Amino acid sequence: MVTDGAGFRLADRDPGATSGVPGKAEGRAEVAELTRRMRHLQERFYADGRHRLLVVLQGMDTSGKSGAIRRAFAGLNPAGVRVTSFRTPTDDELARDFLWRVHRHVPRDGEIALFDRSHYEDVVAVRVRGLVPPERWRARYEHIRAFERMLVDEGTIVRKFFLHISREEQATRLRARLEDPRKHWKFRRSDLEDRDRWDDYQAAYEDAIRETATPEAPWVIVPADRKWHRDLVICRTIVDTLERLDLRYPEAEEDLSGVVVV
Ligand code: AMP
Ligand code: MG
Repeated sequence: MVTDGAGFRLADRDPGATSGVPGKAEGRAEVAELTRRMRHLQERFYADGRHRLLVVLQGMDTSGKSGAIRRAFAGLNPAGVRVTSFRTPTDDELARDFLWRVHRHVPRDGEIALFDRSHYEDVVAVRVRGLVPPERWRARYEHIRAFERMLVDEGTIVRKFFLHISREEQATRLRARLEDPRKHWKFRRSDLEDRDRWDDYQAAYEDAIRETATPEAPWVIVPADRKWHRDLVICRTIVDTLERLDLRYPEAEEDLSGVVVV
C-alpha cells in the first residue's frame, strides 16, 4: 500500500509477485474464505449505514479490472453495490469539467461503489494521447487530491487499486482475445495503439500514483500477472478495511419485546 507517493517507482514492483503464497490452489482457497468474510462484513456495513466505500480500479488493458469485479467481489449482495465503468467521455461529458461525470457515481451511505476506470484516466490516457494541453492535466493532480480529501472528510472511505501487469502478460492476454471468438468483443484496435505507448503509460501511472497517494486515499499496487493473486490482494485489502470499522446493526426504533405477529 502506498500512502506517500514521494520516491514511488513502479519499476520497483514485480507484476509477477505472489506474496509468499505457494500457488494457485492455495490462493484461490484463501480468496474463497475471504469472499465469505466479505459477504458478512458487507451485510453489517449495509445495515450500519454510517459509512461509504469507494473502490477505484485502474490498470492497462487486460490487467483484469472486470475480472476483479467478477471474482474478488463475487460475494457481495448487489443491492449494496454500484459498479460504474468509465469509458471514453461523451460530448456531454467533455463539455464539462473532468470530475462532473465521476462525482455523481460516488457511494451513498451503506454502499460500496466500484469504479472500473475513473478520474485517473484524465491524468493518464488523456496525457498519453495528448487530449488536453499539459498545463490542464498537470493541474488535475491537485484537483484529484482535493476531491478525494473532500470525499474522505465527508465520510467516504477511498481505496485505489493499480492492477500491475507486465508487457509480456498483456501480449499473452491480447493474443488470447484474438484467438477466441468469444473474446473478440473485448478486443479493440486502439488497445494495440495503447500497447505501443506502454512506457508512456507506465510513466503516467507512476506520476499519478506519486501525486495522489495519501494516508486517507492510498494506492494499493497489485501484482496482477496471476489472476488469483490479483483477487487475493484485493480481497485482503477490502476485508481488512471493513474489519477496522466498528460495524453495528442499528437499534430498532422502538422496544419490540411485546410485539406479536398474528
Ligand atoms: P474499456 O475499459 O476496455 O471499456 O475501455 C474504455 C476506454 O475508454 C479506454 O481506452 C480508456 O482509456 C478510455 N477512457 C476512459 N475514460 C477516459 C477519459 N476520461 N478520457 C479519455 N479516455 C478515456
Ligand atoms: Mg479494453
